[in-house]
Amino acid sequence: MVPMWTPFGPSAHAASDANDRHGHEQPTRTHLRTARPARNRSANMTFHGGRILPTVSSRAIFWGPSWANATFAGDKVTGLDSFYVGHNGSNYAKTVNEYTGTNGQVTDVTTHAGHLIDTSTATGGNNTAPILAEVAKMITNPDTSGNGYYPVYTDVKRGNAGYCAWHDSGVVNGITVQFAFFFNLDGDAGCDPVDTTTGHSQGLAALANVSAHELSEARSDPDTPGAWYDSAGNENGDKCGWTFHVPSVTFSNGTAWKVQGEWSNKAYTAGTGYANSSGQKGCVDGH
Ligand SMILES: [Zn+2]
Repeated sequence: MVPMWTPFGPSAHAASDANDRHGHEQPTRTHLRTARPARNRSANMTFHGGRILPTVSSRAIFWGPSWANATFAGDKVTGLDSFYVGHNGSNYAKTVNEYTGTNGQVTDVTTHAGHLIDTSTATGGNNTAPILAEVAKMITNPDTSGNGYYPVYTDVKRGNAGYCAWHDSGVVNGITVQFAFFFNLDGDAGCDPVDTTTGHSQGLAALANVSAHELSEARSDPDTPGAWYDSAGNENGDKCGWTFHVPSVTFSNGTAWKVQGEWSNKAYTAGTGYANSSGQKGCVDGH
C-alpha cells in the first residue's frame, strides 16, 4: 500500500499523489515514489500488459446510517448521480480514450445506473475486503462484461488516513468488478479542491474531484497486472492529482465540476498539456 505522508492535499502540492492508495496495486508499484531522478526517464506511463475498461457501467453505493439524514446527504447523492451521467461522452471522459489494452481501447461511453443506499454501519477504507463485500451485498447482478464500476461513498471521516479515496478490482458472483472507496470529505481540508464557482456543496465538490480521479484510473488501469502507469507506479489520475487547469469543467449534461486533469501520454509528447505538480506538461481536462 502507499506510504502515508503528511501534510497533503491542495494546501501542500508536493503531495500530489495522496488522492488514493491503489488497493489493487502490488507494493512494488507504490513504494518507489520518492526521490527517483527523472533524468533519462520519460515522464510518460507505459503499458503493462493488462486490460482496460472499453466502457463503464457504473452504479453508486452510499453506505452508512448518515445517508438517511437529508441534511447530511444534502446535494451529494443527486449531485454524484449527475456527475456520473454527465461524464458519459464528455470531453473530460475523452481524456482517457488514448489508452489501449489487451481487450481494445478506452472509449468515453460510461453508462450510469443511478445509486443504492445502505444505511447499515460502514467501515473505513483501510481494508479492501469489507468494501468489496459491500459491493457484493448491494450489487447482486454485476455487469457481465466485467466493466461494472461501483463507487462506495461512506459516511466515515478520514481521520489521519493518508488518502482520500482508492479504487480496486474484485470478483462478485464470478464476475470481475471495479470498485472504489470514498471517505466522507465534508469539512476535510486535506481532500478539498476548494471549488468556489460551481455552487456545489464543499462535500459534493470534494467527492466529485476524487471520483473523477478514481474513475479515470479504473478505465486505464483496472486490474492486475495493470495497464497504464509510470515507472513510479503512478496512474493517470495520480500524475495530475491536485492540479486544476480551470475553475470548472463542463460535462455532457451541462453540469460543471472542479476536477483535476488526467495524464495524457499524447499531450505530454506533443507538448500540449498543462503542468502537473512536478512541472510535467501532460495533464488534460478536456475543457
Ligand atoms: Zn490515484
